[in-house]
Amino acid sequence: MKTRTMARIQRTETPHTTWCARDHRCGVAEHRSADLTADEIGGRAWLTRVRAGDVEYIEIRARIPLHSNENVARRQLSTALNLMRELLALVAPGLARLPGRDQRRAIGRPAA
Ligand SMILES: [Zn+2]
Repeated sequence: MKTRTMARIQRTETPHTTWCARDHRCGVAEHRSADLTADEIGGRAWLTRVRAGDVEYIEIRARIPLHSNENVARRQLSTALNLMRELLALVAPGLARLPGRDQRRAIGRPAA
C-alpha cells in the first residue's frame, strides 16, 4: 500500500519587488517589506507590505496592553475588533462586496 502523508507543494519563483526587503523575509514566491512601525501611542503596531504570487496585501500586527479588569479588557477587545472592521471597510472597501464573501464557507454561516 502506498501512503502519501504530505502533499508536494511547488511554487514558481517570483522576482524581488522594488519595495521588498530582499533578505530572509522574502521567500520563493512571497516578498515582504521591512516593517513600518507605529509606536509611542500606548501600544505598538507593525505594517508589512506583502506580495504572495500576484496578490499584494497589508499585514497588520499590533501589541495593545489590556487592562487587568476583565470587563475592561473585553471592552478593549470589542473596540479593537470594531475598529478593525472600520479599517478594513476604509482601506479595502470593495472587498466586502465581492461575490462569495458573504458566507464563511468553512463553517457555512454569514460573515459577521
Ligand atoms: Zn523580495
